[in-house]
Order: sequence, then structure tokens, then C-alpha cells
Amino acid sequence: MAVAAGTKLVYDFAEGSKDMRDLLGGKGANVAEMTRVLGAERVPAGFTITTEACVAYMKAEREFPEGLEEQLWEALDRLQEQAGKRLGDADDPLLVSVRSGARESMPGMLDTVLNLGLNDESVAGLARATENERFAWDSYRRFCQMFGNVCRGIAGERYEELIKERKREAGVEEDVELSVDDLRALTGRFRELFSEETGEEFPQDPSEQLRQAIRAVFDSWLGARAVEYRRINHIPDDWGTAVNVQQMVFGNKGDTSCSGVAFSRDEISGEPRPSGDFLPNAQGEDVVSGVRTPRDLHELERLMPAAYEELMEILRTLERHYGDMQDTEFTVEDERLYMLQTRTAKRPAQAAVRFAVDAVDEGLLDTAQAIATIDAGRLDALLHPAFARDADFEVLAEGVAASPGAAKGAIVFTADDAVAAAEHGRDVILVRPFTEADDVHGFQAAKGILTSEGGKASHAALVARGMGKPCVSGAGTLEVDLGAKTVSAGGTTLSEGDLIAIDGSAGVVTTDDVPLEDPEVSDEFETVLGWADELRTLGVRTNADTPEDAAKAREFGAEGIGLCRTEHMFMAGDRAPKMRAMIMAETEEERRSALEELLPFQQEDFEGLFDEMKGRPVTIRLLDPPLHEFMPQAEEVVQELERARIEQSGNEQELEHTLERVHSLAETNPMLGTRGVRLGILHPEIYEMQARAILRAAFAVRDRTGEAPELEIMIPLVAYERELQLMRDLVERVAGEEDADELEVSIGTMIELPRACFVANRIASHADFFSFGTNDLTQTALGFSRDDVEGRFLNRYVERKVVDRSPFETIDQPGVGWLVRLAAWTGREERPELKLGICGEHGGDPESITFFQLAGLDYVSCSPYRVPIARVAAAQAAIASD
Ligand code: ADP
Ligand code: MG
Ligand code: MG
Repeated sequence: MAVAAGTKLVYDFAEGSKDMRDLLGGKGANVAEMTRVLGAERVPAGFTITTEACVAYMKAEREFPEGLEEQLWEALDRLQEQAGKRLGDADDPLLVSVRSGARESMPGMLDTVLNLGLNDESVAGLARATENERFAWDSYRRFCQMFGNVCRGIAGERYEELIKERKREAGVEEDVELSVDDLRALTGRFRELFSEETGEEFPQDPSEQLRQAIRAVFDSWLGARAVEYRRINHIPDDWGTAVNVQQMVFGNKGDTSCSGVAFSRDEISGEPRPSGDFLPNAQGEDVVSGVRTPRDLHELERLMPAAYEELMEILRTLERHYGDMQDTEFTVEDERLYMLQTRTAKRPAQAAVRFAVDAVDEGLLDTAQAIATIDAGRLDALLHPAFARDADFEVLAEGVAASPGAAKGAIVFTADDAVAAAEHGRDVILVRPFTEADDVHGFQAAKGILTSEGGKASHAALVARGMGKPCVSGAGTLEVDLGAKTVSAGGTTLSEGDLIAIDGSAGVVTTDDVPLEDPEVSDEFETVLGWADELRTLGVRTNADTPEDAAKAREFGAEGIGLCRTEHMFMAGDRAPKMRAMIMAETEEERRSALEELLPFQQEDFEGLFDEMKGRPVTIRLLDPPLHEFMPQAEEVVQELERARIEQSGNEQELEHTLERVHSLAETNPMLGTRGVRLGILHPEIYEMQARAILRAAFAVRDRTGEAPELEIMIPLVAYERELQLMRDLVERVAGEEDADELEVSIGTMIELPRACFVANRIASHADFFSFGTNDLTQTALGFSRDDVEGRFLNRYVERKVVDRSPFETIDQPGVGWLVRLAAWTGREERPELKLGICGEHGGDPESITFFQLAGLDYVSCSPYRVPIARVAAAQAAIASD
């Protein structure tokens, strides 16, 4: 498909602006913007071929769209006019760079060719015009090298080998020591290599050079490297790249020239002092390629004081203009400074926070603007210990940075071993191929989790994030042998008890005893969080089942508990046998008396939470999982029974009975079985006991501290309005029996089934609040289970672009999100004061939080360690929706 006739495909820098990045790419749009802001004499002139031209080129099987050539030569004429030089001129030739530049920066992924326009004739002209023969030949050999590599795919090492060979012959160490003759000879060899590899002569016609270079830049959009980068960073394939053709300026003209990169503030700490690197007598490529070791930006002050001062001034100007930290490229040619690129600086969390606070202090930004410069998702890194910043260590393996923070300890391979070791006060790392529900008690005991399989949404990653434990998942080069209790990688084999350290923020694993640095919420971070609280309209609560989690979350600023799951309370050591007795009960009477015994434990648990929350809202979900989860595995009982029979130990009958019960509770598909409210309808006495325990705990805490919590009793997995009605009646009856009038109690439901969303208005007539359980809602809306999806087909789905990320990480807006909006809307139609919240992994995901703001929710609830992130993200969502 061609572009419409007459479409403008080429823009001079003077015509563009920073608001045109979709069309001109980030680099082109910002070069144009710099031309306006800093003046044409600071930015080498040029033009941009649009991303639209690239898209048309790709659609037309790599044919230039109609009108492109024509517009290209016109733009080139204008450039030649402005520069007063012509491409390929035998006296004083114009040279250009041909630079890629997509909408979002994709550093190092796309191609660029420098010094284009040189040939056997113009190289002599360049030498004469600049009276610098060495420089001319250095530029020519660079061009031959880049052109061959970028435009014709000749391996970079082939050129590097030839350079090494020549340096050996000349007896020199550094590129800059090569003489004119060396460079001339080298250029000759580069051209021979070109002919050998392509069967063609190196193109001498500058127009042909330009055509091929533009083609190569377009093609680099489709290169494997770029495709992979886009997949990881969720950049659409159909954006295309722009191509910038720009007059060359030369940092390789001698000792009064240089090339470098400069950040407007320190790129690691965010301190208000520019940082960067430069290389004297070099072109930009040398600084990033690592062939020579660059020098610290501030050494430039001594070498070229005037240019240095100008650069510092320009960095301030750009920062003021863009209202954000900038990352720039510059070149000094004969002491004249040119700016070649600027973009918003990517920065680690601590620098982002530091910049925000300083920018407000300096009057550069207001608090809303400052908050908007922070990447909320990255703030994670500030809330966990990390490898000491200056630590030196050898990487054993790399994997997915699945849950932030660093940890080290002795290797264990099972959850039970982790628990046993922790009981002896030892720090351990749980190492497994992958984890399952059965391993969860090991997470609590371990300092960190390492798996060889699974991604960011694997079981290990989710559970670890929920608990705030560092986790590296999917470290594919590790071979975990659970039988032998060894783990090996790259020739190293480690056994149980050996030291291992993981950094879940970076996704690295080492066997070195790396020192760890403790996190603290810095004063600056507190400041930012304070602004966030003023700006946001969404409440932020936490998911917490224990007083410890609740305390942590309070420290991080949670305003209440949005989800307290009660099942953990029944699984704890001393409760499990009582729970089993309850399940084994033959009659309601027996069951009630077993529940009677459980009640004080439940009450005690709730008291702990309420104490911690000091009068704030607490949402308690009544028992959700199927009963068989509280029972032993069938195989275990069978074995025990066999043993009992052989030993005639007398409890055979009891075991037979247990086995029968285990079998009768077993379900083909427990996820869709007797859980949630279904359990409550089948065995109302369970929910009754829980309601009683909650109310009594609230009274006890009120009598002790003077503050009763705002209670929200939540019925899980409701599909039919009548289910909720029945359970509401039950809770209200218990409240009457307990004389709970003085307590603030609301009764609501978790919305986690599609039917509940469709009939939300009917359900709302029995509900004081809805809390969206988006984990289950995602599973039930999509009809797949999280644990199975992860390992089996999700990766392929991402690869084949069915989805661009796991729907468990970021809410699927068009599908699951639509159900949320529908339920919120119709629920409020029925009951305008209906309180709406979300509990589930999505509650701590910045992108999902933006969506929940738009859907009109009142609060989000997330794991304690994500509370600060949610506060910032909620502020950003409020600003964006304003
Ligand atoms: P990347 O996106 O990989 O950084 P660039 O297009 O920015 O690619 O160019 C690579 C290097 O070449 C950079 O260091 C840049 O500053 C330098 N460069 C690009 N165009 C010119 C030019 N017209 N004059 C001098 N140096 C240039
Ligand atoms: Mg660049
Ligand atoms: Mg659920």
C-alpha cells in the first residue's frame, strides 16, 4: 500500500518540533526542537524522512514509496544550499550522517551511518579544505567500515581484524596513532573486503550511497535485534523508524575536537551536577562502542574551557525547556560546540526521586509535574536491599528480575529444608526449577527465591513479590537437579549449603559473598510520597493476612486493609488438626463443636490485625478455598493406612474414614469447584463462626484501645444475587446475636466472575461494597488458569503477538477491564454510594492503576511492598485524568 499522493515524507529540521515524534521519531523531533531552542548554529542542519515513509516501504516489500526520491533530492538541495557545500564535491565536500530514530528510543538497536559522501575524489577535497589529510582519511576509512557493516551486513569483526593487523604492522597501540599512509592502506583493504563480500565495487556515487544508507536504516527496523527489543519493551512493530540526514560535524579533527555524551544531572544519583563521558579526537561512535576508554565529562573543562561552559549552559537550557532531565550527545569541532541529540534521560529510581525533589526546590517544576517524571514501576528498587553499588562480583547466571531486592544465603532445594534452616536461624535461598502452591511456606522462610524456569508472572515471581522477597526466575542456564540436590551453570556445580547471592532487581546470580545495602525510605522519597497523597484521589490499601504484613504496609502508608484472606489462618500448625476435625465431622453438631474450638484462634488473629490498623478499614474475606486443601493428600493417607494395617496399630478404621472423606472432597477442577460462597451455602456454620470471631475481635480491640476497625465483611466468588442475599442475612443475624449495632460493619462481595459483572446491579442491591478480585476475574473471563498459562503457552502468545504481556501483570483493558467498568457502572446505578475497590496483583501495577482511576474505583489494594508505588501511580493517574 502506498502513501497518498502528495503526502509530505521529508521535513527539514526547521519545520519539525518535539510534538511531532510519532511522525519524525524521537531523535528527529528533538533535533528539530533543539534547532529552535538553541539556534541553527548549534545544531548541524538536515532533514527527516518520516516514519510513515518507513511504514510504506515495509508494506511495499521494501520499495521506496512514491514521491520519496523526489522529496529527498529537493531536501538535499536545500541542505547543500544552506551548507554551501555539495555531496561528493571534489574541493570542499558536504558529508552527512544517516541516522535512525524511532518514536521511542531503542538505544543501539537501529543503524546509523556517518561520513557519507566520501569517495576517492572527495576525500582529497576534504583533506585540502581542512588542511588535515589524516582527518580526511580517518573519516573515509570510518565511512567504508560503517557502510559495509550497516548497509551490506559485513561483520564488524572483519574490519576490527584489519585495523588490528595494520596497527601491528605499524607497531602502534592506539587507533589515533595510525598515520595517513596507514589509514589510506586500511581504506584500500576495507574496499577489497567489500568487493569480496558483495561482489560489487564500493559505491562512489554519493546519491547511491545515500539511497543504500536510507534503505539500510529502514531495514534495521526489521532486524532481529530490533524485533526482540520491541517485544521485550512492548513497542509496536508497525511504528517504523524515521531517518535523519544531517550535516556532519567532526570530533575527530585533532586535539581541539571531541565527541561525547552528557546528562543534565548525574545519571546514577540524580545529583544536580551534569555527568557524562567524552573522547578527544574521536567521532561519536567511539564513545559508545567501547574501543577506547572515555574520559570524565568534567575533564573537558581543562581541555576546552569555552566549549565546556557552553555545554553546561545548554544542558540547563534544555532541562528548563523540556522540564525533565536530559541525556544528550555533543561534538566539539575545532572548539566549536554542536548538539546532536537530546532525550529524556532514563534513570534509576533513586535518581528519579532526587530529580523530582530538586526540580520542585529549584522552581523548575510543580509537584504534579515532578511526580509525572517518575517511572512508578521502578520505585520497587528503593524498597529492598540491593547489592552494594560498588560491589565487584562474578555473574554465575542471569534470569528475569522477578521480584526486587537482593539476598544471599545457603542453597536449599525444598521448602521444608528452607523452613528447617530458618528455624536454626540460617539464611537460605530456595533454589528450584519452578515453584508451586506447596512451596509457599518455604518462601516465608527463605531470604530469596531462585528458579531456572518461568517469567515475571510465574508462580515464584508472584508469590515472591507478594511477600516482598527477592526473586530471580527463569535463569535458564542453571540446571537444578532436585534428586542430587545440586545446581550447576557454566562448569560450576553447587550443592546444598553452598553460598549463593541473587539480585532480583537486576536478575543476576553469583556465588560471591556480595555485600548488601539496606534500603530505607529516604527523606526525598517521603517528600514525593507526601505530594502523591495530596494529588491522588484513589485510596491505597494493602493485602495483608498477618499483623507483620499490616505493620509493614502501614509504614509504607497503606490506609487500610483491602483484602485479608482467612485461609492462611486455618493452615497454621496448631489450627490444621482442628480444621480437619471440622471437615471430618459427620453431623452439623459435631461440626459446630469443632468450629467452636477454632473460633478463639480466629478471633486472636483478627485482633492482631485490628490492633495494627488502629480504627482503619479492614476488609475480611470469608473462607474461599475448597475444603480438600485442608486435608492430607490421598496418597499419603493410603500409605499411612497400609503401614497401619501391617503394624495393626488400631487406627485403621479412622484412616479409612479419612481416606473416604478425602476422596469425597476431591474435585476434578477445584478452581471451579466448591469454593467461596458455595462453601458458605453448603456449610453456613463456617461463615457464621468467622463472622462471630470478627465481631468479637472488634469489640475486644475497641475495649482495649478505644478504636474499633471499620469492618467490611466480604463474601467471595458470588455469581448469583441470591447467594449474597443468603450470606448477608447470615452475617446480619450473627451481628444481632452479638449486639454489634455499635460497630461499623458493612457487607459486600468480591467481584471475580463474569456473571457477577453482568448482573452487578442485582448483586449491588445486597452489597455495601464491591472489591474486584481481578486475578480470578482474569482467570474466569479468559478461561485459563494462571499457573498453567505461564509455563505452557503465554510465552508463545507474546511471541505471536496474541498478547503483549501477561494479563495477570497488567489488566486486559478491553476484555477483563470492560467487565470491571460494566460492573462499576451498573452497580452504582443500583446503589450510588456503593464503595468500589480492587484487590489482586493489578492493584500494584501502575498501568492498571491508571485504568482503575478511569473506571471510577475508590481505592486499590496491593501487597505491602507495592503500597508506595501505588501511591505514586495513583497520583499520576489523577494528574493524567485531570
Ligand atoms: P544512536 O541512536 O545509536 O545513538 P545516532 O544516530 O545518535 O545513533 O549516531 C551515532 C553516533 O554518531 C552518535 O554518537 C552521534 O552523536 C554521532 N553522530 C550522528 N550524526 C552526526 C553528525 N551529523 N555529526 C557528528 N556526529 C554525528
Ligand atoms: Mg544517539
Ligand atoms: Mg478469588
